[in-house]
Amino acid sequence: MRLDLRPLLSGDKLLTFDFDLSLDRFSEDTSAYLNGVSFPSPMKVSGRITNTAGYMLLTLSLSVDYSTVCARCLEPIEGSFALDLEKTVASKDMAEDIPEERLDDYVIIEDGSLNLDEQLIEQLEMEFPSKILCKDDCLGLCPRCGRSLNHASCDCGKDDIDPRLLPFKALLDKMDSDGDNQD
Ligand SMILES: [Zn+2]
Ligand SMILES: [Zn+2]
Repeated sequence: MRLDLRPLLSGDKLLTFDFDLSLDRFSEDTSAYLNGVSFPSPMKVSGRITNTAGYMLLTLSLSVDYSTVCARCLEPIEGSFALDLEKTVASKDMAEDIPEERLDDYVIIEDGSLNLDEQLIEQLEMEFPSKILCKDDCLGLCPRCGRSLNHASCDCGKDDIDPRLLPFKALLDKMDSDGDNQD
């Protein structure tokens, strides 16, 4: 979406906006989708630019629905992700003086307008969690039988011994077998 900033540049104090940004590029059949997450509907973006004596500040909120699987138990998850952003609006001339590492704090006006699409996509890629869990205490899958331990427990772990105790178990077994030998 291209926002026309000419009214602000000629003295208006406020511009509000509200638009949808397509996330087709992350659909499941493009293989480019983000961290195994797909976005079934467009990103919703709304915000404002205020102009205070020539200093322009952009504030916006974005939200996006996603579907993915739990990073531990592989259960499907649908959720929504939201983010608030605040950036200084700078002209191209000003942009030349901005140190590279601070460029993230700015959006740059080009030909009297702002195109936020690429920046919003980049922001989503940066901020979207790389791992999503179905719940904080998800128990995951049994490493032996693959069953989800959230729904039922399995018998695989029953005979397990704390690995730190293994040396003692070996010792006990040895004592046992020594004892057997004496019989
Ligand atoms: Zn899970
Ligand atoms: Zn198991």
